[in-house]
Amino acid sequence: MKTIYLDHSATTPALPEVVQTMIPYLREQYGNASSIYRIGRESRKSVEEARRQVANLIGAEPEEIFFTSGGTEADNMAIFGVVAACGEKGKHIITTRMEHHAILHPCEQLEKRGYDVTYLNPDPKGLLRVEDIKKAIRADTFLISIMHVNNEVGTIQPIEEIGLIAREKGIIFHTDAVQSVGKIPVDVKKLGVDLMSLSAHKIYGPKGIGALFIRRNTTIDPFIFGGGQERKRRPGTENVPGIVGFGKAAEIAQRDLPADMERITYLRDKLIDGILSSIPYTQLNGDRQKRIPNNANFSFRFVEGESLLLMLDMKNIAASSGSACTSGSTDPSHVLLAMGIPFEIAFGSLRFTLGKENTEEDIDYVLKVLPLIVERLRAMSPTTIQGQNGGDNKKEGTLCTTR
Ligand SMILES: *Cc1c(COP(=O)(O)O)cnc(C)c1O
Repeated sequence: MKTIYLDHSATTPALPEVVQTMIPYLREQYGNASSIYRIGRESRKSVEEARRQVANLIGAEPEEIFFTSGGTEADNMAIFGVVAACGEKGKHIITTRMEHHAILHPCEQLEKRGYDVTYLNPDPKGLLRVEDIKKAIRADTFLISIMHVNNEVGTIQPIEEIGLIAREKGIIFHTDAVQSVGKIPVDVKKLGVDLMSLSAHKIYGPKGIGALFIRRNTTIDPFIFGGGQERKRRPGTENVPGIVGFGKAAEIAQRDLPADMERITYLRDKLIDGILSSIPYTQLNGDRQKRIPNNANFSFRFVEGESLLLMLDMKNIAASSGSACTSGSTDPSHVLLAMGIPFEIAFGSLRFTLGKENTEEDIDYVLKVLPLIVERLRAMSPTTIQGQNGGDNKKEGTLCTTR
């Protein structure tokens, strides 16, 4: 039986057209894009074509796109690159507690080096309050980094409003747009950002390639050192097959955006409505409206997300849970906790992220099997509904026992 893949925010399958575009660059067109002979020049030409395709997708100029090894490196380049260039002028960075670890962990590193970082909490729907950002700004704030769309709950942040504030105060503004690009219209001019991270494998391109948009005249230095590639901003021989695949994926994302948005929103809403109406003690996490088309994140009380994942896997459904039970320690999603969702509810979370290949039959199948799985797990659970209704059989510390 085929896998019903509902984890497109983790990664997406590279489209056949993307793979086809890449193959020649792994074979006969292997030239180094910095070489002077014909196959080198051809690689260069294709890299520059891809740069235009990626720039077009976000309303940027090609010269403002710098290829990296992915979203993680783009995020690190934004943070450490700005620190390298402006760290003398300021000590304070503003970000949020719901960022991807590719932002949170660099910020933690900087704290160890003596920088101050303000981590803002979103509201219970996963949305940031623009007021909080205004209040957090200090005289020595030199960087604001706030994700466009959250990878777990799919909320769309008010980037445009934050961009205006950052500009007014002369603070460099970065956004991690890995989860918004290709899913909703994204325009760097409209959003008013100076830096934006992108990743190809989240938009049906290959893994291991991404980009940082750097608005012209933004103060940023390299954070790794080597050759002069990417106009001396990001050294290393260009990943030509990856770049070419990224370009193709960007072109297709732009072409398909309106139709995909409409179709995937319809399927997503069917999934949300179906689950909320058929499974009691269930909540949708994240804002219902300010949400990307493909995300549906739920908390099912009295079950563990991890157990749900395993049972769904047995039914060939691939989804994701924010919580990770590793080596005996249990961590619910940092995003859900930042939203103020209680521990025991965050534990029962499950994320479905839809994509191009999903059909209405896929959704119908999930709606058929999930209620039965939840029911079965609840019947076995030590944290039962009876416990909730007054009994005293809620046992803490047993939430990860199924592994
Ligand atoms: C996936 C993801 C990243 C990391 O991108 P990679 O290309 O996998 O390194 C960064 N930020 C967000 C929001 C993501 O979803």
